[in-house]
Amino acid sequence: MTNRFALQSRELETFMGQMFVICPHCGGRADVMEKGDEVRLSCLKCGHLQMKQTGTKYIGGAFDVHFGLPLYLQISCCGHVLWAYNREHLDYMKRYIEAMIRTSKGTNRSLESRLPEWMKRKQNRDEVLRAIERLELVWERG
Ligand SMILES: [Zn+2]
Repeated sequence: MTNRFALQSRELETFMGQMFVICPHCGGRADVMEKGDEVRLSCLKCGHLQMKQTGTKYIGGAFDVHFGLPLYLQISCCGHVLWAYNREHLDYMKRYIEAMIRTSKGTNRSLESRLPEWMKRKQNRDEVLRAIERLELVWERG
């Protein structure tokens, strides 16, 4: 039995609990988290700390929702930018693409997902998967 539960479509919002951005101070990996009505950016590498009130949201691009800073996990792919808020988000996309590659060879059960159309296109899937794997390495290096 395939892992159907893990492949349920998820809204982008469900990955926004903790987002990783490029630290504006040192270029390392910093996290952005919302706590109550405040948002905090903190870098484990250099200790940089930034706070703001929740408010403006930057949704749907390679930047975090609150500060609008470039995401740590992003890479050029198929003429687009493939990005993820965090490792869980990256894993989710990987499972989807892998499942699409598998099902396109077997049954034609369609997988519902909110991934961008270009990522789902059959001719792009292998490149998308390679890009995701490169981001995994970026993440492992920290
Ligand atoms: Zn830093």
